[in-house]
Amino acid sequence: MKKIHNFSAGPAILPEEVIRKSAEAVLNFNDTGLSLIEVSHRTKDFEDVMDKARNLVKELLGLGNDYEVVYLQGGASLQFYMLPLNLLKTKGAYINTGTWASLAIGEAKKVGNVEVIASSEDKKFTYIPKQFTVPKDADYLHYTSNNTIYGTQWKTVPECDIPLVCDMSSDIFSQRFDAKKFSLIYAGAQKNMGPAGATMVLFRKDIMGKSGRTLPSMLDYEVHASKDSMFNTPSVFSVYVSMLTLQWLKDNGGLAWIERINQMKGDAFYKELDQNPMFEGTVEKEDRSYMNATFLLKNAGLESEFEKMLKEASISGLKGHRSVGGYRASMYNALPLESVNVLTSVMREFANKFA
Ligand code: PMP
Repeated sequence: MKKIHNFSAGPAILPEEVIRKSAEAVLNFNDTGLSLIEVSHRTKDFEDVMDKARNLVKELLGLGNDYEVVYLQGGASLQFYMLPLNLLKTKGAYINTGTWASLAIGEAKKVGNVEVIASSEDKKFTYIPKQFTVPKDADYLHYTSNNTIYGTQWKTVPECDIPLVCDMSSDIFSQRFDAKKFSLIYAGAQKNMGPAGATMVLFRKDIMGKSGRTLPSMLDYEVHASKDSMFNTPSVFSVYVSMLTLQWLKDNGGLAWIERINQMKGDAFYKELDQNPMFEGTVEKEDRSYMNATFLLKNAGLESEFEKMLKEASISGLKGHRSVGGYRASMYNALPLESVNVLTSVMREFANKFA
């Protein structure tokens, strides 16, 4: 197979061995003679997969029995609504750092009272707000740890005395962090933890059951947790691939290992960006994302020349999000350092030719 350097923002690159093992399981799952996608989720073989995936999440994040992990469907987007439905009683506090945070705020407003305590909209979401006061009477503080579209990332966890909840869809499992500071984390699987079709939600057991609402069963975290994430048919294939992806991460050294690699990739990319006369970054340096690096070509007239060179180097998925344009190098866990080195050498070659 031709080697493609896959910088896609999501669904995104997965480890090659995970893709191979998934393909094998589609043909013959656990030597059962059946395909993974034609067996009941109630078989022992699949129950073990679900248990393993949920346990790996906790193990990698160092969480104990006071937390639950569930795999749901509906994407991270369903969480924008499901979360306030379960947690919002008086008010939800939100920090707006971009498109996904704005959507989360919009959905929460359909449920109840929302206070946006900080926003970087004034500068087109090119920075992470640093000054804000968290209201003590809010039920939770919601933020988005990494802004997939604008390319900013929180470098510290916001200080707060109320339950902290986070959309970590695009940087979960990319570095070490103190997961115990969070009351709830959700993440669509399709960046660092598997294919599209599954969304992981972890939460502290003691934050649930306080909204005063009678919830539809499918939108009730406690219902899913009480049935070990098998209240209804889970996305069998996505959960399986997610389990393999987390196992790959664990086998290689977990978060400390991947953090080192992600640091090297981001440092290599931003070093080139800062010294290359043809390109410019789009966000504040201190808030740059190590998962999604956004940048522009200073001379837009040379776009087709640059893109021709990218294609020749087998670089794929570098186009910026359709809402902001420019370029975006997504450097998720499974992207090797080698791919970043190929990209930076194309950028250098481009400058040598056209600067
Ligand atoms: N939050 C973030 C940070 C995202 O990057 C995305 C998707 N790229 C979403 C939420 C929405 O996820 P989904 O498409 O799974 O609903």
